Amino acid sequence: MADYRMLINGELVGSGARLDVINPATGEVLAQAPDCSREQLDAAVAAAQAAFPAWRDTPHAERAAKLGEAAGIIQAHGEELKSLLTAEQGKCHDEAFFEVMGGAGWLQAVASLDIAEQMNPTEPGRSSRTVHVPIGVVGAISPWNFPVLLSMWKVAPALAAGNTLVLKPSPFTPLTILRIAELLKDVFPAGVLNVVTGGDNLGPWMTSHPGMDKISFTGSTATGKKVMESASRDLKRVTLELGGNDAAIVLKDADIATSAKALAWGAFRNTGQVCINAKRIYVADEIYDDFAEAFVAEVESYVVGDGAEQGVQLGPIQNKRQYERVRDLLADCRANGYSFLTGGEETGEGPGYFLPLTVVDNPPDESRIVREEPFGPVVPLLRYNSVDEVLERANASEFGLAGSVWGADLDIAEQVAMKLETGTVWINEIHQVSPFEPFAGHKQSGMGVENGLAGLLEYTLPKTITRALPAG
Ligand code: NAD
Repeated sequence: MADYRMLINGELVGSGARLDVINPATGEVLAQAPDCSREQLDAAVAAAQAAFPAWRDTPHAERAAKLGEAAGIIQAHGEELKSLLTAEQGKCHDEAFFEVMGGAGWLQAVASLDIAEQMNPTEPGRSSRTVHVPIGVVGAISPWNFPVLLSMWKVAPALAAGNTLVLKPSPFTPLTILRIAELLKDVFPAGVLNVVTGGDNLGPWMTSHPGMDKISFTGSTATGKKVMESASRDLKRVTLELGGNDAAIVLKDADIATSAKALAWGAFRNTGQVCINAKRIYVADEIYDDFAEAFVAEVESYVVGDGAEQGVQLGPIQNKRQYERVRDLLADCRANGYSFLTGGEETGEGPGYFLPLTVVDNPPDESRIVREEPFGPVVPLLRYNSVDEVLERANASEFGLAGSVWGADLDIAEQVAMKLETGTVWINEIHQVSPFEPFAGHKQSGMGVENGLAGLLEYTLPKTITRALPAG
């Protein structure tokens, strides 16, 4: 078994205690990861604090060059990292490769963003400018569904802006990030990039650590609230990217074949474990039956299995806890007598955390499968009669992450998009995210922004310097 170690102060370090990492396609232990002690976390934070002044004062172009070098190393190891990511996360090789390359691409792209200084209007005889300075030590906490990409969404802006970092991936998927840390060990000065892995104590230790200046968290809304509460005690800055229950609205003039195909992938990609998957698909009554038929045909064409096998498109659910949660939602659908257009019944065949791809036929709005974020391979199709009605139903959610609108008349689609209460809306497409586009969860889907200039600014503090100019 490979030896996975953390990166603290430029050194690869193991730990006394270790955590098992499970391959979700087989249920077997794949490897072990270090279980960071409190003293080791203290050491990582102290290293990040010590490295901060020099990294802050390093010219942006030099920091950007280091990020570019890191991206190149990740790209050069793309094949190896892809296989490791599939083994621990479950996603198929194509998706794992896309994620690894996307993570590298993010490092390069964010490094190219420039924060301009701003001259402020003043009365005569004074000048005033505002610059953006890094915050200090950032604690980054990422989830298990896109362990590499969503970690890089934090590493790239934090380091580009001149902060130092302690990154903690999910205990369910620590290995690819640990391997990346090993590969990048000598790229950044010691202490600039630290990576720690551990169990349930480690996240709360980070969010309450007095040496951390900012927490950037991606995960569930429930955990995000705990993070914010903990970080509030010493007013750490926070960015929270949280859960979603994205609505897709299929208008009556939508192209049925293309929207059904795109939305089937939009709902089941990564076996439903994407924060921005379509999780409630509202279809105009006039086209509901034809859409449902095309949608189900597409879903039934997907090849499900061990992501390491050739041809597999969708892997298992990533971990046992999530598997049990989705099973519970399926059981709730069955207990309430909702009908399934496909799936719904478990075969009970092992090994691995597999559940049937399931489409629920028009369950009530109050059902759990409509109100909750399943984060698994089950999606409801919902009938609607008017645009006003569907907007009211789509917006009746505590979540506001993203959504999509599908229709031939782009002006009408745009009007609907403007009324969806979410941070992102796609028209006739889905899942489009970019390092140059701000991505912000509205309502309980988040706090703050990732990506784009606005996302980069979240890793800085404005600093205004004024002068009284010499007379004359
Ligand atoms: P999670 O909230 O259980 O865990 C996320 C991370 O937080 C993990 O690293 C975990 O170890 C850590 N953690 C757990 N408890 C903590 C605590 N009390 N303090 C600090 N850290 C703690 O989420 P998950 O199950 O890993 O991910 C799935 C969720 O993430 C879904 O709700 C999904 O929608 C959401 N998500 C959101 C986005 C987004 O950009 N908005 C992206 C991906 C996933």
